[in-house]
Amino acid sequence: MINPDIVVIGAGPAGAAAAAYLNNRGYSVLVLEKERFPRFVIGESLLPNCMNFLEEAGLLEAIKKCDFQLKTGASFHKGDKQCDFFFEEQYTEGYTYTWQVQRQDFDQVLIKEAEQQGVKVRFETEVIDVNTSKDIQTIWFKDKSGKTEKIECKFIIDASGYGRVLPRLFNLNKPSELEARGSIFTHVEDNKREVEDSNNIFIHAFDNNESWFWVIPFSNKTASIGIVSTNIRIESFAENQGKKFNEFIQTFPDLKHRFSTSKMLFEPKNILGFSIGIKKMHGEGFVLCGNSTEFLDPVFSSGVTLAVGSAVIAAKLVDKQLSNEKVDWREDYENIMKKGIDVFKSYVLAWYDGSLETIFFAKNIDQNWKKQICSVLAGYVWDETNPFVKKHKTILTTLAKVISM
Ligand SMILES: Cc1cc2nc3c(=O)[nH]c(=O)nc-3n(C[C@H](O)[C@H](O)[C@H](O)COP(=O)(O)OP(=O)(O)OC[C@H]3O[C@@H](n4cnc5c(N)ncnc54)[C@H](O)[C@@H]3O)c2cc1C
Repeated sequence: MINPDIVVIGAGPAGAAAAAYLNNRGYSVLVLEKERFPRFVIGESLLPNCMNFLEEAGLLEAIKKCDFQLKTGASFHKGDKQCDFFFEEQYTEGYTYTWQVQRQDFDQVLIKEAEQQGVKVRFETEVIDVNTSKDIQTIWFKDKSGKTEKIECKFIIDASGYGRVLPRLFNLNKPSELEARGSIFTHVEDNKREVEDSNNIFIHAFDNNESWFWVIPFSNKTASIGIVSTNIRIESFAENQGKKFNEFIQTFPDLKHRFSTSKMLFEPKNILGFSIGIKKMHGEGFVLCGNSTEFLDPVFSSGVTLAVGSAVIAAKLVDKQLSNEKVDWREDYENIMKKGIDVFKSYVLAWYDGSLETIFFAKNIDQNWKKQICSVLAGYVWDETNPFVKKHKTILTTLAKVISM
């Protein structure tokens, strides 16, 4: 095998975007992917800002040709209270729509498009070891028969998601600052959907804001339903998960009405303790992207947007470095990514501590504030002209206090 310039570990959205971007800049790129595609993965609701990154990676047109469910907003609920955000009202300029996607199809389209553009991809090929240095990186991998090979390249992009290949090998994992939570989810038939339910993600908080569930409608009249809660509560679904999940659906009037007779399309799956931190996102000869960096919480659907965004930002810097320009990875990559992640972190914390409940369900909320919050929920977390981005650490708790006075 001829050595490529760049090896990307993982063919999820981060891997596909980084590979496509660098291929388009004239580099030879090899993606090594453990699984055979299409494969299931959770993370189905995108944010409008993801469109900008997909466009920069040269992958947006391929997705536009698919029949994914249009998403134009997010609807938050608690009991009988409701707060709707419409992306067309967002403060920041940019895409005001996106899609809700079955990830096995979405990820397949992205990586196939990258392949068609010239990226080499080896599926069912697991990276098992890596050695990095200033100029030459060595990667050992095995195919499904167990045969081991090695390859050398100039730079490695780790986009291995929950596989966290380099964080594990280089001891970069760090516990998350967020409480340990888990999730259980499945897909169901969605034949009783009202028109107004089609273009939204539906999020419903319960258990004193400790838990919430999502409904994500797909274009083929099915939907994803997932519950997020403490690990203990998610573990209580163990054994007979399907029956317990159905019982859960009967508990909430809006779920019961829409799904009580719906067929479940597969036995619910679960993930425990999904939040994880990272000590650093780069090192000699490598960079981490997407979920192999930090993962917070799914409540604001930030995962894929941050994955594709980090991939494009990192790919631009890899291009710079391989063109012999100096790159300050800490300043120009890690600090930028942390800025975006930290904005979402403030919103996740405010979601669980109840500040966002106070703001979202306030009787009269200033419409300018709502537009600015809407921009954050659309993924525009680097727009520092937005006070709800710039002052994210304090503005939500302060506003919640003022509203409660
Ligand atoms: C419960 C839950 C709900 C979520 N909901 C949303 C949502 O609604 N919207 C959203 O945007 N995000 C959501 N997310 C987050 C989303 O799942 C991730 O952020 C997203 O999939 C990250 O993309 P990625 O490309 O970094 O990694 P992945 O999509 O995980 O891709 C990584 C790839 O690397 C491969 N790989 C792993 N190890 C190796 C190895 N050793 N060698 C080769 N290949 C390897 C894997 O097989 C995989 O294909 C959710 C997460 C959870 C836990």
